[in-house]
Amino acid sequence: MTLGPTTIGDGTVAVIAGPCAVETPEQMAATAAAVAGHGAVGLRGGVFKPRTWPYSFQGLKWDGLDLLVAARERTGLPFITEVCEPEHVKRLAEVVDGFQIGTRNMQNFALLTAVGQSGLPVVLKRGFGCTVEEALAAAEYLLQEGNDQVVLCERGIRTFEPWARFTLDVTAVALWKERTHLPVMADPSHSGGRPELVEPLALAAIAAGADALLVDVHVRPEEALCDGAQALRPAQFAGLMDRLGRAAAGLGRRLAEPAATVPPAEGECA
Ligand code: PEP
Ligand code: MN
Repeated sequence: MTLGPTTIGDGTVAVIAGPCAVETPEQMAATAAAVAGHGAVGLRGGVFKPRTWPYSFQGLKWDGLDLLVAARERTGLPFITEVCEPEHVKRLAEVVDGFQIGTRNMQNFALLTAVGQSGLPVVLKRGFGCTVEEALAAAEYLLQEGNDQVVLCERGIRTFEPWARFTLDVTAVALWKERTHLPVMADPSHSGGRPELVEPLALAAIAAGADALLVDVHVRPEEALCDGAQALRPAQFAGLMDRLGRAAAGLGRRLAEPAATVPPAEGECA
């Protein structure tokens, strides 16, 4: 799968990072600058947020897209964002670099078909109650439309374990690597649900063969409108990237390098 200039699945470890939700111009700009500065190859940020409770922040919707576009212009990094409605696909496709299909929509077949027809890169998150095979079957809906720009994402499944938000199923990563040619991603943020779990789960995922990681980062997690409890601060993300680089080297791999050059912040000397 090719996201901007990066090929996910070429043996390197690619990291896509950013806030769970796009919230404000300042939050998005600062978080994007931080993740770009520490070696992410892509940005994440949700503008349509599928929330468990209808009273929770539902995302900035179309207004949030401009903030992702501005962050891409500033950092040079491509971005992915979640799409929840088949009717939104065409309009989003005009600006996004790639789509994310969330865990709750993995078997939304009309959505899969519409995203398949877009031909754009797509991160397909495994349904938290779905099998490894069911995720592959969902990917077939994308492939069937002629879209081969697909990455499978293990984001944790529901188990009897209450000390983590979900349980990262490392077995799924290894099974997908064994049974399909598609690149595989892991999301240690949504699975563990806590900053302390991000690094061990990320390391486990790359040891199992994951090609990419999706990591929540927020400049002020305590103020986040969505999933602040699991977001890394920029300094924690920097530490993670450093240790991931070392771990990758130990596995005979390396971190994918961002093609983008990050311009210095305003008023800062080059
Ligand atoms: C997300 O990435 O913000 C998200 C909602 O993920 P998931 O669909 O895995 O819960
Ligand atoms: Mn989230």
